[in-house]
Amino acid sequence: METISVLKEREHQVFQKGKDDFDIACEKTSLAGSVSQRACVFCGSRVVLYPIADALHLIHGPIGCASYTWDIRGALSSGPELHRNSFSTDLSETDIIYGGEKKLESALLELIDKYDPKAAFAYSTCIVGIIGDDVESVCKSVESKTGIPVLPVHSEGFKGTKKDGYTAACEALFNLVDRGRTKRKLPQSINILGEFNIGGETWIIKDYYRRMGVRVVSVMTGDGRINDLKMARRASLNVVQCSGSMTHLAKKMEDAYGIPFIRVSYFGIEDTSDALYRVARFFNNNPDIMKRTEKLVRNQVRSIIPSLSEMKKDLVGKRAAIYVGGAFKAFSLIKALKHLGMEVVLAGSQTGSKEDYKVLREMCNPGTVILDDANPLELAKYIMEKDADLFIGGVKERPIAYKLGIGFCDHNHERKIPLAGFIGMENFAREVHQTVTSPIWQLVPRRASVLTPK
Ligand code: SF4
Repeated sequence: METISVLKEREHQVFQKGKDDFDIACEKTSLAGSVSQRACVFCGSRVVLYPIADALHLIHGPIGCASYTWDIRGALSSGPELHRNSFSTDLSETDIIYGGEKKLESALLELIDKYDPKAAFAYSTCIVGIIGDDVESVCKSVESKTGIPVLPVHSEGFKGTKKDGYTAACEALFNLVDRGRTKRKLPQSINILGEFNIGGETWIIKDYYRRMGVRVVSVMTGDGRINDLKMARRASLNVVQCSGSMTHLAKKMEDAYGIPFIRVSYFGIEDTSDALYRVARFFNNNPDIMKRTEKLVRNQVRSIIPSLSEMKKDLVGKRAAIYVGGAFKAFSLIKALKHLGMEVVLAGSQTGSKEDYKVLREMCNPGTVILDDANPLELAKYIMEKDADLFIGGVKERPIAYKLGIGFCDHNHERKIPLAGFIGMENFAREVHQTVTSPIWQLVPRRASVLTPK
């Protein structure tokens, strides 16, 4: 098999545990020409804010940016579905020359009049940053005319990485949270941050907390509602799941309102149990919460162990490659795959920090490839070299897996089934089992190199 080489400028972002000195370069802009798997700043902000279902989301830019619609993050709503619409100011050549502020203002006024949203978000895209539209003052003007919060999202696509988009979204969310008038704390209450209700995951997690006796004030942003977000400062604790996207907001809320935060994951048996126990321990002034949590975890684990054990028989020794947005998700995936007897041979993320990669290195076996901000060729190269049976990633990784003739599991925005919580672990195991053991792989040139032309 002919091997491809990694671009020289990328060499410090790719390591093999035990083989190379590990000092990964990360949290930097993608190398031009390397065709990164990352999305832009605007997409980063969009995926965080989009699940707020009763808000208007208006993209100020050319129509192409609006391709990041609801369907790229299947965030479900139990009520309004305004978030499923993709609105754009559709800037054209004339707007670029003369400015797009008037168009933005009239679009906001027209849409607010027509759809009666509880708030509106106006997203800046690349070209808006270049021509210098004053989105902030347009939002202020529309807010004074309509009486609803109109929030600028400073997400010009070129100004950094997807992570900068998360920061822009957090700033817009904080702008909203800060408008809450009542400050009095609610007892035994939390906000859930970084949970986006993909396939209904928010509902599963909220149900756990309900059964524990913990009140969920707001979810940021799965099945989100503007009025709940305005109450968020009244919670006693922020529980942050997708830490890459939401730690910025959690820190701001800690500084402004004194709400402490913890980082958790609801993926896999260990991490879900740990998340619930840590919340229960935080409210140790109420021992009933811990008692209910113990009962909940015990019953849930008991209910899924038999089917997991059955699936594990076929999965022991199979090799998995993981490439996800935030590294925190990779930690949970490694633990969950170990539960199924599988070995992780590649682990990477789009937005991991040095600290994250240190943890990843500790968790992985010698020989595992660890990489930051990868591109399709690098992923294909190492999946082939490591002879992986399964690739876990998102929509952009799916074709890589199928072209290589290996199983794929979507652990990103587009999936329709919940993978969070105990039931989510069972769903995950089932999906992994189905794809890894599928007979289709006997019919494709699975181990033939797609990198070498015949
Ligand atoms: S904001 Fe810029 S990089 Fe992002 S989709 Fe629009 S044009 Fe592309």
